[in-house]
Amino acid sequence: MLPSRASVVVVGGGPAGFMAAIAAAEAAGGAFPGGVLLLESTPEPLHKVLISGGGRCNVTHACWDPRLLVDHYPRGGKALRGPFSRFATGDTVAWFLAHGLQLLEEPDGRLFPRTNRSSSVVDTLRQAALAAGVMLHTAQAGQAAEALPGGGFRLRLRSGAEVVADRLVLATGSHPSGHRIAASLGHGLVAPVPSLFTLTLDDHPLVELAGVAMDPVQLELLLTPLAGATPAAKPLRQRGPVLITHWGLSGPATLRLTAFAARALRERRYRAELRVDWTGGRKPADLEGWLTDARREQARRQLGNWRPWPELSRRLWLHLLALGGVDATLRWADLPRRCEQALITALRDSRYRISGRGPFGEEFVTAGGIPLAEVNLASMESRLQPGLFLVGELLDVDGVTGGFNFQHCWSSGWLAGQALAAQRTCS
Ligand SMILES: Cc1cc2nc3c(=O)[nH]c(=O)nc-3n(C[C@H](O)[C@H](O)[C@H](O)COP(=O)(O)OP(=O)(O)OC[C@H]3O[C@@H](n4cnc5c(N)ncnc54)[C@H](O)[C@@H]3O)c2cc1C
Repeated sequence: MLPSRASVVVVGGGPAGFMAAIAAAEAAGGAFPGGVLLLESTPEPLHKVLISGGGRCNVTHACWDPRLLVDHYPRGGKALRGPFSRFATGDTVAWFLAHGLQLLEEPDGRLFPRTNRSSSVVDTLRQAALAAGVMLHTAQAGQAAEALPGGGFRLRLRSGAEVVADRLVLATGSHPSGHRIAASLGHGLVAPVPSLFTLTLDDHPLVELAGVAMDPVQLELLLTPLAGATPAAKPLRQRGPVLITHWGLSGPATLRLTAFAARALRERRYRAELRVDWTGGRKPADLEGWLTDARREQARRQLGNWRPWPELSRRLWLHLLALGGVDATLRWADLPRRCEQALITALRDSRYRISGRGPFGEEFVTAGGIPLAEVNLASMESRLQPGLFLVGELLDVDGVTGGFNFQHCWSSGWLAGQALAAQRTCS
């Protein structure tokens, strides 16, 4: 049965809410007189954890220095140095290990559960919550909250039930209900917009190449100046793996680029020009030298049959020859000088028109949320409403792909848990 009172009520059973509830209960060692209540609106908590990382859950990223970790957060950035100096990647790895789940690092730095299954992360969190005495109630949606004159909160649920809480934690992710509750308690909102999305290209000139992956590729977004537009978070250039899809471009470099430009692209209705350097940043002089060598050493071969470097996909090479207006059946010895520059331009400076967002993201998150200036980042307690704590994606924080979004949930949830336990004497 749902209790009518609790020392701590956490609204939202996602990773941030679970971490806050577990950390509070563990740190207090059962000393909360009214217990820790965790409310989740859906029948199954931790839904996003389950579907994350293609069913494997990319729990965090092997970036161990908080000063470098913050560079992976287009919203949040340097402000997160404090929280990450107290709980960052190493602490996440240790925390999961202490709770029975080993995380393993992949060559690109992403950390996954040893089992390679996101369900292990869900099970670990659920078992930890149970062991710590957290009272989990599902299918219970928080709808409204009011601060009580003598301290504490009255939370009204969608079912009509009410719960009185000494301390209230909002961990509702990007769901508007959390924004509404926070607003009713005095908080502002940075308008939510999608982040981490793939790109749709106009008259998709690469459509024949769907499935081709290249690494590294350098992408640069060319934004038209717009009166009154928000300056885009830097950088608008990314280098890394790119995947050509049926609608345009995906892959880590594309997702990083769209994360940093999330708001700027939204303001331009997802229309912009994209400069693609398929060489990944090779210098023009190197390419010229390579063409000279190819003329000499591959003189009798057709251009289409011998590509600059083995990792360059043959299909992409043929596309670039066509883009540069160069006949792929020409022999290398017969390549006119005037075509050389066109070829170098196609390799280093191909331009494509972005016409929208892709149909879905690999790791979709929301930029925007409760402004960080309104939260004490040492404790995650509201600066406007004592006793209210805000964690996870509800805040105006989002990271790039690679496990950074969960890392912020673990960090902010853990910090809130410690602060709640430290305040328990006031309960
Ligand atoms: C397909 C996909 C894959 C992803 N993969 C990764 C990945 O591999 N690595 C990574 O770092 N990030 C990944 N992300 C991003 C990551 O899932 C989110 O950043 C993270 O889940 C945010 O956690 P949260 O606890 O703040 O919010 P959420 O996970 O959204 O949890 C909030 C919870 O609160 C509940 N809720 C909402 N409103 C109420 C209410 N009023 N009352 C009660 N409950 C409520 C919701 O039902 C939900 O369960 C992925 C996202 C998606 C969509």
